[in-house]
Amino acid sequence: MILYRLRCSKGHEFESWFKDSKTYERQEKKSLVGCAVCGDAKVARAIMAPRIGKKGNAVEVEAPAPAPAPAPTPEQQQMAALARKVPKELREALMKVRAEVEKNCEHVGDKFAEEARKIHYGESDKRGIYGETSDEEAEALAEEGIEFGRLPWIPRGN
Ligand SMILES: [Zn+2]
Repeated sequence: MILYRLRCSKGHEFESWFKDSKTYERQEKKSLVGCAVCGDAKVARAIMAPRIGKKGNAVEVEAPAPAPAPAPTPEQQQMAALARKVPKELREALMKVRAEVEKNCEHVGDKFAEEARKIHYGESDKRGIYGETSDEEAEALAEEGIEFGRLPWIPRGN
């Protein structure tokens, strides 16, 4: 949409919306654009001056017609397709990691933080362990310089 300021042969000025400049030209040629004040069909485009508010006021801007949402680019479509694909592959990768951990490490359940500390300070045999711990405990472990990794633990058969 395009807003034109128009002026009739009698000098009335008015504004009118058109689909685009071609639509205006077509309607103007066929004298379909009438003056909003007197109905005079002899109208011409007036020069549009930007409306500027008084000093200290916000600048008044003609609100443009809302633009239609742009069609997704091929890249965006590709990204969307990828996003739909990832969860399954990510899931499979995490399941593999889980299987590795279960095979090579000892499950210590919710005593993970306790055991990790014991191993770190040499009170327990050095070995791989896995288990559950709270965010607070995980943070404390990290602060103590204890190495561990965190994984989203995907339940099996789900
Ligand atoms: Zn007029």
